[in-house]
Amino acid sequence: MVISTEKIVMELRKNKNTIASEALELEQLKQSSDISTLISALQTTINLDELLPIFHRELLKVVNYSGFIFVHNELNISEQYGQRTNHKCEYDLSIESTSLGKLTFMRRKRFSEDELQAIERFVGVLLYPLKNTLLYRQAIQLTHTDPLTGVLNRSTLQSVFQKETSLTKRHHSDLTLITLDIDFFKAINDNFGHSAGDLALQEVTKCIQRTVRESDHVFRTGGEEFVILLNDTNLKGAELLAERLRIAVQSININYAEAQFAVTVSMGVTAYRENEPLENIMDRSDKALYEAKHTGRNKIASA
Ligand code: GH3
Ligand code: MG
Ligand code: MG
Repeated sequence: MVISTEKIVMELRKNKNTIASEALELEQLKQSSDISTLISALQTTINLDELLPIFHRELLKVVNYSGFIFVHNELNISEQYGQRTNHKCEYDLSIESTSLGKLTFMRRKRFSEDELQAIERFVGVLLYPLKNTLLYRQAIQLTHTDPLTGVLNRSTLQSVFQKETSLTKRHHSDLTLITLDIDFFKAINDNFGHSAGDLALQEVTKCIQRTVRESDHVFRTGGEEFVILLNDTNLKGAELLAERLRIAVQSININYAEAQFAVTVSMGVTAYRENEPLENIMDRSDKALYEAKHTGRNKIASA
């Protein structure tokens, strides 16, 4: 059989093309298997604290990066997985104009085009599971918060108290509790109307939030009653804070329609005693509050 050189070259070219297209098919197959693994893995949870680590784990199998940061300002979320390094690529995430936050991937050297494409494929798959976990997170947050003031509600006090007391025990630190009640609040409603009363509640809440530390917990436990849990704070520290808060509240000018008025608050302060239940510490701070009320209001008392 006579085979021309030309034919051999053609055969070789054909083989090369077949190998190249097989390699491409293989790569596409691998990519689609990475994606289906990611899809199944992301489907196992509706919890953001689980979803993001799963995403991190799966992406690391494909792209060698140092870490990422996820930020969602409206929901007050800022989470970092892996390490912070200087080269970054950022994605503003959204579905149909609903913002889902921002993802920033980091690594020591620049990302290559292929790596960016892989990241984008993975981010595309993350969008809908992320949207669901954010909706879930929002729903959970709503069950814990008071709609008027945005602080934690009474039914959340027990679980936060339990968490804080176990941390207090582990770190041999102090925990204190303040019960705060607005003075003559009924008169505000009577004189200026219920909406003015609502505004006063919101203003007092903002003042509390400005005064306490971010790690402290604020609850609206009743109509015009609040509880503040101060971790890593002893009785002396809590009294100082309560006094600062008392002065800060009385200096707020509340403007409602034509009316302008001020409010004052009374507070009961007490320190946590090891192993005591919430009812005990609440009982003590309530008694102190009662004393503050009955000895003149706009003051603090300790127990
Ligand atoms: P004291 O100084 O002894 O604490 O007197 P007070 O008037 O603040 O206390 P009292 O318990 O007599 O009145 C509390 C009032 O708070 C009565 C209630 O109508 C009002 N209140 C409860 N919840 C709300 C609310 O969400 N908004 C408004 N505007 N008022 C509320
Ligand atoms: Mg009151
Ligand atoms: Mg009251």
